Amino acid sequence: MPLPTRAGLDAVPAYRQGRSAPVGASKLSSNESPHPPLPSVAQAVRDRLDGIHRYPDMSAAALRERLAARYGVDAAEVTVGAGSVEIASQLIHAVAGEGDEVVFAWRSFEAYPSLVRIAGATPVPVPLDADHGHDLEAMLAAITPHTRLIFVCNPNNPTGTVVGADELERFVAAVPHDVLVVVDEAYVHFDRTESHGAGIELFRRHPHVAVLHTFSKAYGLAGLRIGYAIAPVEVAENQRKVAVPFGVTDLAQAAALASLDAEDELATRIDEVVVQRDRLYTVLTAAGWPAVRSQANFVWVPAGERTAELESVLQAGGVIARAFAGEGIRISSGSTVDIDRVAAALATLRVEVDA
Ligand SMILES: *Cc1c(COP(=O)(O)O)cnc(C)c1O
Repeated sequence: MPLPTRAGLDAVPAYRQGRSAPVGASKLSSNESPHPPLPSVAQAVRDRLDGIHRYPDMSAAALRERLAARYGVDAAEVTVGAGSVEIASQLIHAVAGEGDEVVFAWRSFEAYPSLVRIAGATPVPVPLDADHGHDLEAMLAAITPHTRLIFVCNPNNPTGTVVGADELERFVAAVPHDVLVVVDEAYVHFDRTESHGAGIELFRRHPHVAVLHTFSKAYGLAGLRIGYAIAPVEVAENQRKVAVPFGVTDLAQAAALASLDAEDELATRIDEVVVQRDRLYTVLTAAGWPAVRSQANFVWVPAGERTAELESVLQAGGVIARAFAGEGIRISSGSTVDIDRVAAALATLRVEVDA
């Protein structure tokens, strides 16, 4: 007799992690911070090690209060999860189930379609526009009586494009109030346009907006798994019901609090990543690749048919990036050394092409 399986699971692709890199290579496949943890953050984690025989504070009260104060919202509107991918899952489970639809742009964050299917709901991907950005008009047109949630990934992973604050506001105002708009701002810290921070402002002004933030990318805590949402209190209450109990460890909560204490230091690091990101764009375009200007910590190269070629050239130069077969490559902005390597790898190809 076959083992039991849940109906519909064969339609769910397993999450594909960014490729691991051989020792000494530049791992630019998962949009991680190129910096090791700040000494103060590592110390805060060490200080809590002696308590790991206890369960963590499930409500993450200290962190939620801290975040509430930082953004001028109520602690009841803040929810935490084991990375913002868990928060995205909580939000979907809190508002959508069998027969409901969840709209998002495509290509966007790889986890959206699987998370929607796992909740029993139906993913409704809406193609990006010709400039690799969200096509908000098409997304509005995709809303049906079954729509419960819309993701706007801003800046978008993997293309790095942003929706301007005014444009996003018009979109939110046009979405019916019984549909939750989730602005996924995993990369907001790297956004140097006026849309930086737009999500929180929309949350303040509209009843049907939630904002997702993470400590994984700009704050460099990808390995500890902690992210949060600022959401309408009714939604936040339902998120707590669907969350896996004790999903966020005490070490992660301590590291998040210590990171909030060190935001000035982290801001310097974020600025460095932004410099390398812009340099990465310049290096790619100078070598003739169709890179897209980015406001995140990576650059998208819609290389199409030449994707495999670009991937292997990078790999030969010791750079591991994230390739989407036949579509393009996303390269994370790493350290100066990492981007030097990208430049050197691209130069070898140019020589071969010219020869
Ligand atoms: C990386 C990422 C996340 C979440 O990362 P976590 O490590 O789970 O916090 C969420 N949204 C987008 C768009 C991302 O790229």
